[in-house]
Amino acid sequence: MAWYQDLDKQIKKQLPGLDYRAEEPMAGHISFRVGGPAKRMAFPRSGEELTALLALAEACRARTIVLGNGTNVLFTDEGIDALVISTGKMCDMALREGNHLYAEAGLSLARVAVFAQQNGLDGLAFAHGIPGSVGGAVCMNAGAYGGEMKDVLAGAWVLENGETRYMTVEALSLSYRRSYLTDHPEAVVMGALFALRQGDKAAIRREMDELMAKRKASQPLEYPSAGSTFKRPQGYFAGALIQEAGLKGLAVGGAQVSEKHAGFVINRGGASAADILTLMEQVQQAVYRSSGVMLEPEVRIYR
Ligand SMILES: Cc1cc2nc3c(=O)[nH]c(=O)nc-3n(C[C@H](O)[C@H](O)[C@H](O)COP(=O)(O)OP(=O)(O)OC[C@H]3O[C@@H](n4cnc5c(N)ncnc54)[C@H](O)[C@@H]3O)c2cc1C
Repeated sequence: MAWYQDLDKQIKKQLPGLDYRAEEPMAGHISFRVGGPAKRMAFPRSGEELTALLALAEACRARTIVLGNGTNVLFTDEGIDALVISTGKMCDMALREGNHLYAEAGLSLARVAVFAQQNGLDGLAFAHGIPGSVGGAVCMNAGAYGGEMKDVLAGAWVLENGETRYMTVEALSLSYRRSYLTDHPEAVVMGALFALRQGDKAAIRREMDELMAKRKASQPLEYPSAGSTFKRPQGYFAGALIQEAGLKGLAVGGAQVSEKHAGFVINRGGASAADILTLMEQVQQAVYRSSGVMLEPEVRIYR
């Protein structure tokens, strides 16, 4: 019996209330708006449901992939033989003692940043415009405008091998777009604890608005993308290298190197995942020829 037939049966029996779908197109769940169907996709509503689901998935030998807001991932057009688990319905949030804020994995950073601001807690203004979820941001150590998750996290609750444990920010080993989670893809962030500081609500709001205005002025937010396509190579900026190689506007099918910001590959309409992947390869080769630097994708590609 195929793993998904086994899992279908188990879920019907043990998690009958779970939002669980077959052949779910990934294009509807990722910011690039491309990608074929996941064999199965589930949307647990709580840590308990997620824990139970992962136990069943393991028993059925399912490959699992956790998805937050899907703003840093790419799935191929052929789809994926896996159980994709969305954290999108895990959205609890609460203030904790000592200027701490607890946020469940599926919350968007925007909502967490606004909640912090409304409660006079400073530290998350940089994260307000990053379109990821809390879980995805911890995994990627998301950062912008001089701030990064590493600076504001106290720690996170991580589910691994059936056990949830609290990991401090040090244990999470956050560095540039890398963490314990990128190195242990089977580990799942259930929630995070942010250590913030008292601040002035109006000043935090102003900072958030200023950073959003900067973003809108410099990034092609009007098109689907996954943000910066490539990581920043040591000593360089990916966007500058791509621009210097004369690649702005280069297109493959519906995928294009943004005219506004060369660091972004955009879906200008009708792109396939294959268009995006081919364009990324062409950019890597051309930048390597012109500068000797091999760009590494920041976008996480699932095949
Ligand atoms: C327009 C635009 C602008 C962007 N600007 C920035 C920016 O300024 N700075 C920046 O750092 N990034 C930026 N990004 C990229 C992206 O938003 C971040 O990387 C974000 O942290 C990804 O979060 P996500 O929830 O979308 O993760 P996803 O794309 O869903 O997943 C990314 C990775 O995290 C893993 N993951 C997700 N949730 C969990 C979890 N609960 N537990 C364990 N692993 C998990 C996934 O398995 C995957 O490997 C931008 C993207 C876009 C589209």
